[in-house]
Formats: sequence, structure tokens, C-alpha cells
Amino acid sequence: MLWRPTTYGERAFLHIYEALGRHVSVDASFGATLDFLVNERSFQEFAKLHATIETFIRCMRAAVYLQPEIGHLAPTDYGKQLGKRDYVPRRLSSDRRFCELLKQTAIVSFEAKDAPPAVARDIKHETSRCYLCGIKLAKTGPQHSKPTVEHLWPLSLGGESIEENLIAACHDCNTKRANSITWAWGPVQSTDYRHDPKINPDVQLRISLAMAKLMLEASGERRGGRCSLKEAALRLAPLFPNLDIKDGRHRVYFELLDEVRKAG
Ligand SMILES: [Zn+2]
Repeated sequence: MLWRPTTYGERAFLHIYEALGRHVSVDASFGATLDFLVNERSFQEFAKLHATIETFIRCMRAAVYLQPEIGHLAPTDYGKQLGKRDYVPRRLSSDRRFCELLKQTAIVSFEAKDAPPAVARDIKHETSRCYLCGIKLAKTGPQHSKPTVEHLWPLSLGGESIEENLIAACHDCNTKRANSITWAWGPVQSTDYRHDPKINPDVQLRISLAMAKLMLEASGERRGGRCSLKEAALRLAPLFPNLDIKDGRHRVYFELLDEVRKAG
């Protein structure tokens, strides 16, 4: 599941996904299938994304930590330093393109430059509702509906403060999404969901499923070609899924993901 990246952080992440993710497989060696997991494809995707997240965060943290020491080096020497300390897998530390992307990603994270005020103002006026929950954004309304500028790819993970990476979100969603970058970051293992019309589904669960919708749309799997996260977010907003499940049966995460995929 790949999309059109607009920031260094996304490019570095997708580079790892292509380099390592394609080799990750959860095929059972004894010949059994994983069909009983509701959606074997989603489970495979989860394993790939999860391996990519772990590797990406590890590389990122090392690069940001060493930024003052090695940030001035050319990509080849930069990779050697990271590889020497066992922070980055050998295959990636000798990959010139990846080292350049990681270096730029670390700079974005290290400098943590917010959007210039004029850009932030434009983003807040670009849409009138939160792209995740759909609440009407109002400066004078309750605290949770105050407009904020969200980085679709988090600033701390190399998402620059550029228009293509910024979108209006309510204060609540912006805070609660935190650094979540894909649905595989979410509450996969801990979900045993039974719908109760009186209680809203847990916000972390809704955010995780919203990320799944966003990535699916941006991958072009549903229609058209690949697009950026922002294009997909503007097209689908609000992203929170409708979890109006009538039968009251318990569901685990991959069942919910399947329903979100089908509902579009
Ligand atoms: Zn919201």
C-alpha cells in the first residue's frame, strides 16, 4: 500500500517499506493458511507496515540523536557512521538514496519548524470542518472545536510544514492522533469491539480506522491512481468511519478493517 509522498519523512518511510516490507511474510511454513484471520491480506499488510514502522522509528531516532555529530556528512559517510553503530540495518546504511532521505528527515525533525503564520491561516480557512471527525471548526466555539493545523505526516517524523502536508483539524483530533502514521500503529491487538449506540467507539480505534481509509484511498486501490495523503484526506473528509453495527456481535480489529474497506 503505497501513496504519493510529499515530505522527506514519507519518502524515507516508503523507501524502507519497499526495501524491507516486501520481504516480510507471515505465510505459515507448515502449509496452513491464515484465512481464519478474516482478511489474510490485511494481516500481511499489517506485518509489513509494522516492520516498516519499527525500522523507520529506529533509524529516525538514531539520525536525530546523531544529527549534531554527523549531520554535515555526505550520504555515504553518513550511512557508514549509522551502520557502524548498528542503528540502521546494513542494507539501508549502504543505500545512498536512503541515507540522503534519512538525513533530510532528521533535519526536518531536529529543526521542528512550524508553518509560517500566513500558511497556517490559509490552512485553517481551507476547510470549515475537521478532516477526521467532521466537527465544524470555530474559533469562538468550545475548546475541542478550535481550528488547529495538523501535519498529515508528523513533524517529529520528518513531515515538513508545507501546504501539501498540512490540513485543518479540531483541537481534540489533533491532540489524540499524536504521531500515529498508519493504521498499523493503532490498537490492533487490544480491539474486541462490540457496538453500543450509547457509547462512542474509542477515539484511538476511530483514528486507526481513519488512517486505514486514508492510506487505502491514497494508494489508488479504490479508484484512480496514487495520490498524496492530503488529496485523499480532502476527498474523503470526514475520515472517521461509521461504526453503526446493528447486530451487537463482537468484532476484532481485522473484521472492523474489512467493514471499513467495504464501506469506503
Ligand atoms: Zn476532529
